[in-house]
Amino acid sequence: MERAERIKKVPPYLFATIDKKKREAIERGVDIISFGIGDPDQPTPPQIVEKMCEAVRTPKNHRYPDYEGSLEFRSAVSAWYKKRFDVTLNPANEVMTLIGSKEGIAHIFLAFVDPGDYTLIPDPAYPVYKLGTMFANGEAHYMPLTAENKFLPDFAAIPTDVAKKAKIMFLNYPNNPTAAVADLKFFAEAVAFCKQYDIILCHDNAYSEMAFDGFQPPSILQVPGAMDIAVEFGSLSKPFNMTGWRMGFAVGCSEVIGGLGIIKTNVDSGQFTAVQDAGIEALLNIDPKFIPAMNDLYQARRDVLIDGLNSMGWNLEKTKATFYVWAPVPKGYDSMSFCAAMLEKCGIIVVPGVGYGPAGEGYVRFALTLDESRIKEALQRMKQQLAL
Ligand SMILES: *Cc1c(COP(=O)(O)O)cnc(C)c1O
Repeated sequence: MERAERIKKVPPYLFATIDKKKREAIERGVDIISFGIGDPDQPTPPQIVEKMCEAVRTPKNHRYPDYEGSLEFRSAVSAWYKKRFDVTLNPANEVMTLIGSKEGIAHIFLAFVDPGDYTLIPDPAYPVYKLGTMFANGEAHYMPLTAENKFLPDFAAIPTDVAKKAKIMFLNYPNNPTAAVADLKFFAEAVAFCKQYDIILCHDNAYSEMAFDGFQPPSILQVPGAMDIAVEFGSLSKPFNMTGWRMGFAVGCSEVIGGLGIIKTNVDSGQFTAVQDAGIEALLNIDPKFIPAMNDLYQARRDVLIDGLNSMGWNLEKTKATFYVWAPVPKGYDSMSFCAAMLEKCGIIVVPGVGYGPAGEGYVRFALTLDESRIKEALQRMKQQLAL
């Protein structure tokens, strides 16, 4: 059966390849330590689970949901933005519920990108920005993120003719996979650039709550005038250990939210209202100690991993946010061969940086989604098995 061109161009899903290698190693009896997928290892707080149970028993939730999300959930997002970022959002037209933020990120390209239009996509990046562009038959122009530039794109390096034909720019800070962070000054530059060229600015803020040493990641909507052109994608997945629940939202410029809404009305019929009720509980009523406690857990793991790698010759700075560590590969390796060596010699899974785009070559990503004791065991194996 002949597949469509847009499907034929899709590279194999990065984690599918890694999962297959992992299964093969497990079958051989290897005790695998995985720093692979960025999926929190801790459970959803019981308070949210209880709310869900109650909401499932409520008959009005059994009917079709509102496609744009329940007004109650959208109002909760608006209240949370006010409290967390001092950003004012109208729940009626500046907030939309998503079936996980990935869903909205993938769909926004269909709403605004015509064949031949450019998108400005970071490299390396979460793969959905590129795939979303491809599904809309757009052309992705990579903005390289380099260590010299603190993994921030250099807007001056974007060719003018590309900028003129660009419809969407994507940014993501705190960043997956590099763990880099951005400040409001950088976001203001991005807003100015996108306004100059009439580009929709999309900011993926999936890691806004996962930060260390007192750092509080900003919202791009805090930049004056950002609401004219920018939308921000938020997710309940990472802060509340809710990846399985599929709860996210898009907020910001009402024209952009409206365009996304047209795609969504015709593709899905919204998220189960009971899940949104649980989402309200997470955003507004969670124990205020919960997120700081999660961040303490990740921060302690970060310290064990980075101190351990640095004792073996790496020279990594302590990350300020996300549960990732983006590490250059040792001399003599590229990102694929180092991952293969880690798996074969140490039974350790790390993700090849090149899977996030060509500029990810020379790096691997560790996710801090495993116990400190397993991180120590992994470091021990690396010391013994890899002649670094
Ligand atoms: C995890 C992640 C998301 C997606 O989260 P959802 O579960 O779809 O809400 C989006 N962007 C980045 C960069 C991520 O790492």
